[in-house]
Amino acid sequence: MAPDSIGHSNRPLKRGRKFLNTPGPTNVPPRVLNAMHRDTMDLNDPEFLDAAAESFIGLKRVFRTDGEVFNYISNGHGAWEAALVNILNPGDLVLVPETGHFSSSWSNMAEALGVQIQSLPGDWRRAHDPETIGQALADDTERRIKAVLVVHTDTATGTTTDVKAVREAMDRAGHPALLVVDTIASLGTTEFRMDDWGVDVTIAASQKGLMMAPGLGFVAANEKAIAAHRATARERRYWDWTPRMGAAGYRAFCGTAPQLMIFGLREGLAALFEEGLERVFERHRVLAEATWKAIDVWAQAGALEINALVPAERSAGVTTIRTADGVDGDRIREVARDEMLAGIGGGLGVFGGKAFRIGHMGDMNAPMLYACLGAVEATLNYLDVPHAPGGVTAAIQHVAEYKKAHNSTTF
Ligand SMILES: *Cc1c(COP(=O)(O)O)cnc(C)c1O
Repeated sequence: MAPDSIGHSNRPLKRGRKFLNTPGPTNVPPRVLNAMHRDTMDLNDPEFLDAAAESFIGLKRVFRTDGEVFNYISNGHGAWEAALVNILNPGDLVLVPETGHFSSSWSNMAEALGVQIQSLPGDWRRAHDPETIGQALADDTERRIKAVLVVHTDTATGTTTDVKAVREAMDRAGHPALLVVDTIASLGTTEFRMDDWGVDVTIAASQKGLMMAPGLGFVAANEKAIAAHRATARERRYWDWTPRMGAAGYRAFCGTAPQLMIFGLREGLAALFEEGLERVFERHRVLAEATWKAIDVWAQAGALEINALVPAERSAGVTTIRTADGVDGDRIREVARDEMLAGIGGGLGVFGGKAFRIGHMGDMNAPMLYACLGAVEATLNYLDVPHAPGGVTAAIQHVAEYKKAHNSTTF
């Protein structure tokens, strides 16, 4: 596009609303958008300082921790880097259980930062087995492993690993490594209890289960992690926990705070607590099950299949659908987005072109999900992808049965 054509485009004109079912970013509720629509203000305006303090309190509540929380103007990758550079020295060894594309990417980042990686192979169709992690730690008789980097929900594969069981396996091995967990896709979609489960460092971002716009990265750290942080010696400035700890306003953000986003974050967190985290998780679970019902119907024709083999290991927030040879997952994603106006995720890593992903996380209700499933079914029709019809109906029936059985009015 020529530089003098800013604001003009020759894309086909489409009317009506677009639907968003990517596993991040997710829909931002109007009340959150409205909370951000306000004047910027003095750096130390008490109204802003209150919003910042409340957002830190709210984050501790969703992480379920009494530890420290750090807030970065970044995406999830920034939060990954923040965690790594604060607790590890170059040359330190970490154990990375493979869960899918996100454990690989995080591991690559750690390697680029000079950290040594011990990768623990996993099956991309299963959650990671906590016992293999415990065994790897038991085998580390010299106690060289400094941290275990676990992705709670791997958004590429649609699996969720049992973090509580990972901690139990680590304790059985009697290993002192830190447990560092990426909850970017799981926080606000499924249960997570940082302190009760003995997680030392937790990583999250604003744009998935937390119903906020992209642009904020969060890291929570307990006392053990802070002690490890104090024992490290490496270059870091913006990410450094020390100057941020116990500070408010300018120093807590290492410079000017993303003021308007903090107002939005506070509103998104308030919306979560208003619904109640337990009900939030229940809503995600039922919408996930409805999605699986739809896919199981489409899959009868043999061209599609849910990636995560074991239902109990499936993510409540995202479902990855594998496509048979000759069925281009990227094309399904493009047509769903450009022709049917429903944004869905593509296949990542080894799934490139061989899968697509339906996000059912964040500010999502049943009709919004039906719209997405309808758009996907329409796309399958449009592209002549073999599928049995009636997936959307199966999803509708699942939710209706749940509502009748539980007398539920929430979604
Ligand atoms: C989305 C995601 C990331 C990356 O977050 P960005 O904000 O895109 O940098 C990392 N890990 C998991 C599990 C994710 O779902």
